[in-house]
Amino acid sequence: MRELQLTNAAAGIADVFEDIEALAASCRFTDCLHETEPGCTILAAIADGSLDPARFNRWRKLQAEDAFNSASLAERREKNRAFGKLVRSAVKVKLDRKR
Ligand SMILES: [Zn+2]
Repeated sequence: MRELQLTNAAAGIADVFEDIEALAASCRFTDCLHETEPGCTILAAIADGSLDPARFNRWRKLQAEDAFNSASLAERREKNRAFGKLVRSAVKVKLDRKR
């Protein structure tokens, strides 16, 4: 359920900021932070007035939050997996003792 929400959040961001997503996607630097990189598509759009810098800042904030949420989700998954392993090995020990 939570995963669904997160996916929707990412999709929602892409929806509302479609133009910025498009600019970011067409930026020639794949790992661009769109901050100081010369030749950055987003910075160029802000410079020529076609992109509102406040809107861009909002998008970047949401991106960061989304990345943070996704990261903690991955972390939780990892913990669950570790716990599952622990349970399985505990069960195995129990079964071994019975023999
Ligand atoms: Zn850029």
